[in-house]
Order: sequence, then structure tokens, then C-alpha cells
Amino acid sequence: MRLTFVGTSHGIPQKDRFCSCYMIESGSGVYFVDAGVSFSDAMRDYGVDASRLRAVFTTHSHSDHTGGIVAGISTLAWRMPDLKFKIFFTTQEMIDAYRQYLAATFYCPNGENPAPNIEFCLAWCSEVFRDENVSVTYHPTAHLKNIGLPSYGILVKELSTGASVLFSGDLSYELRENDYPAEAAEPHDLFVCEMAHFFPRHIEGYLAASAVKSLAITHLWPVEEKLPLICDMATHLAYPVWVAKDGDVVSIERGEVKPL
Ligand SMILES: [Zn+2]
Ligand SMILES: [Zn+2]
Repeated sequence: MRLTFVGTSHGIPQKDRFCSCYMIESGSGVYFVDAGVSFSDAMRDYGVDASRLRAVFTTHSHSDHTGGIVAGISTLAWRMPDLKFKIFFTTQEMIDAYRQYLAATFYCPNGENPAPNIEFCLAWCSEVFRDENVSVTYHPTAHLKNIGLPSYGILVKELSTGASVLFSGDLSYELRENDYPAEAAEPHDLFVCEMAHFFPRHIEGYLAASAVKSLAITHLWPVEEKLPLICDMATHLAYPVWVAKDGDVVSIERGEVKPL
């Protein structure tokens, strides 16, 4: 499968870095993990046919992971009304808000659903999606535990090859809640891990014990302070580490991640 780092910034977009958004291509399908920028714009920018879109998975409700859904659904509901795809949210409030947004956008004063082919789904701690290309499983994190809301890491497995990529989602400050995802100890081909809420010293022990095959750091802040610390951490790990930037594209095979 192919992974494009569409947006690798932390909570605030930076020069050359959009907010969190990752595009996965497997077989005929296209899937997004988080949509801090418009997923329909991302498909246009990277030359991907929007009719391939199957699902968008959000890790939690913060706008730097969901804000692009506004533009994504409006554009596709208007331009490609027959396109069927799913969007997974983490709270019912988000589903209700986006339904209202669509109704307002398309002027449906009587509550009609202007985009019946876009299915809004509530994610839970389990495999939430499976088609002929991928399975997608949600794993709980404690990022929003302090305000009583759910948040998740997301595991995407390609069914034909067994290749797998795990996204940490956002984690808790200094990993105080011990919410390093248990799944990140497993031999996944790529672990895409945030680094805005803690320092390398908070996670290095977990990473040293992990069986993952490679690590991409994303959602990095503050960049200047943490970059040298990440470089130092990388020298202690048994697998390749890189700091992802917008536009990075990799092929994820079983046991190997190759830049494209
Ligand atoms: Zn975030
Ligand atoms: Zn967050």
C-alpha cells in the first residue's frame, strides 16, 4: 500500500506543513486517516481520482484532525453526489454537527439529507471497517481523557500483503496516562507517531522495546527543540526513524518501507 503524508503539522498549520492528514492507497481504494485539511483537495493535489475514495477515519475530534472534512464533504456531495463513502467520527456530537453543516450548506430547511451517500459512522474500539483492500481498527488513547472524550490510534492493515501501518493519533501530555498504544509494541511495518505532547525521553523506552519495523515522527512541536533530540533517539533504536514532512510518499510492504 502507498501512504502519502498530506499534512504533518501539529495543532497549528505551519509554512509548508498542513495539519494532520494521511492518504492511503490500496488496490482500487483510497482512505484517509485524519483530515486536518480537505481530503478532496488532497486527492486533487496528488492526482488521485476522487471516485476511489472509500472512507475517512478520524482519531479524535480536535479541529487539526477534522477541520478539512467541512470542505471535503461539501465539495464531493455537490460534485459527485453518487459517490458512496464513510466518515468515522469519535463522538455523536461531531456527526450531528456535520449533518447540520451539510443541511445548511445545501439549504435543506426541512431536515432532508442532502448527501445520503456519505455515511457518518461512530468509531469504537474495534475493527470498524473492512473491504476487499484493508481492515481498519481503532485503539483507545488518553489524549482527551481529561475532558471525558474518546481518542484513538488507528491501525490499517492491507489484506492482500499483510502490510500494516499504525497511527498513534494524539497522546497525553508527557504520556502521563501511560497511553503509549499497546499495539505499537507489535511488529507493524510502520509506526506514525506524534511528537507534540511529549519529548523523546518520555517515549524512548517504549520505542526501544517495540518490534515495529520503522518509525515516522509527525505532528512535531516545537520543531527546533525536538529535532536534535529525535536524531539522538534514532541512534538508539534498531529500526529506521525519520521526521515526516508534507509530500512524503512511501510504499509500505511486508517488512519494508520504501520512499517513492
Ligand atoms: Zn493534534
Ligand atoms: Zn488533539
